[in-house]
Amino acid sequence: MKHIDYIIVGDGYAGLFFAHQLIKNNKSFVLFSEGRKSASQVSAGIINPVVLKKFTTFWKAQEQIDFLKDTLDEIESYTGKNYLISSLIHRIFHDENEQKLWLKKSGNEELSGFLDQKFDRLKVVKNDFLTGKVNQSARLQVSGFFTDLFNFLEKKEFLIKEKFDYEKLDTSSSVYKDFQFKHIVFCEGMGVKENPFFSDIAVNPNKGHHIKVKLSEAIPEDVTIKKKHFLFPTDNGLYFYGGTYDREQLHQHVDESAVAQLVNGLSEIYPYDFEVAEVNFGFRPTVKDRRPIIGRHKSHKNLYVFNGLGARGILNGCYFSRSLYQLIEENIPLHEEVSSSRFE
Ligand SMILES: Cc1cc2nc3c(=O)[nH]c(=O)nc-3n(C[C@H](O)[C@H](O)[C@H](O)COP(=O)(O)OP(=O)(O)OC[C@H]3O[C@@H](n4cnc5c(N)ncnc54)[C@H](O)[C@@H]3O)c2cc1C
Repeated sequence: MKHIDYIIVGDGYAGLFFAHQLIKNNKSFVLFSEGRKSASQVSAGIINPVVLKKFTTFWKAQEQIDFLKDTLDEIESYTGKNYLISSLIHRIFHDENEQKLWLKKSGNEELSGFLDQKFDRLKVVKNDFLTGKVNQSARLQVSGFFTDLFNFLEKKEFLIKEKFDYEKLDTSSSVYKDFQFKHIVFCEGMGVKENPFFSDIAVNPNKGHHIKVKLSEAIPEDVTIKKKHFLFPTDNGLYFYGGTYDREQLHQHVDESAVAQLVNGLSEIYPYDFEVAEVNFGFRPTVKDRRPIIGRHKSHKNLYVFNGLGARGILNGCYFSRSLYQLIEENIPLHEEVSSSRFE
């Protein structure tokens, strides 16, 4: 029997950012990964303090951005790379009214650090009404982040590449197969619906597609462009464009209607030929109030859930991994806004 502090189930942003808390605090653990491409792995990696429809910000945006930067610096100390790409979002304005609204909002105290008052004109893409820059926005280099962290975990023998089997969990003795553990943290995204201990939490799937495209005319600036969706260069010469939102069509294959939506959206801003080279999709675990669901099981006090990261998965996953760690290790209560108890 191996004695460990933690078992983590799931390998998306929730699982990996929580694993970082354990690495940082010298806790022993294993992380179960069933080897499927997570929603996190198909995400755009956008880090954005502004709601780009209404030009508003959200709870703890600045604190979350600062914490993410510090965390990525800490992760760099053991993977040797920093995955933060400092490329600002340029929001294409639809008309003059949007420009005026942006300028008005940029005068608000909570938005002045984010909404740049000087508008930019981009080359190649259509931006007749110019673009507004979101200061402090950035991107995570998603594929590098996952590849390197999985390699690191594997080298340390922290990674178990198999599906966690709930039937083999003995909660009375805190044993799973040949592991004697202190705590389990479930980070399964929509996979939580198969988890008999937490299947009833209030998360709903929202399917998202992105496409990767080959552009016939390169966009000279390395910026993150946003009109309907996000457009930015990736490291293999293709451009990422996405993602869509769909609560209805939840089957396990590509939706041609989502691809058509993306192709149309891109054609609106990119007046040259392009070719779709790749299509990917994933299921965001979303919550009505757009906040994570974190908590301790009512009867099994060493079982925890870390879910509901469908909106702003990177910022929320990073920031609240520490809150969950502090709840478990230091008994510091969670904010009511993210606690699973708000649904009880
Ligand atoms: C197209 C798209 C674009 C997105 N863009 C962004 C973005 O730009 N910025 C942003 O912040 N967020 C974005 N998101 C949202 C975000 O990436 C995810 O929705 C969110 O991070 C969910 O993370 P998670 O770790 O909770 O779940 P997931 O990423 O779904 O990971 C859960 C993992 O656990 C594994 N698992 C489940 N059950 C078991 C088990 N029993 N045993 C072993 N493994 C198991 C699953 O296979 C899965 O790999 C996007 C999502 C999509 C779909």
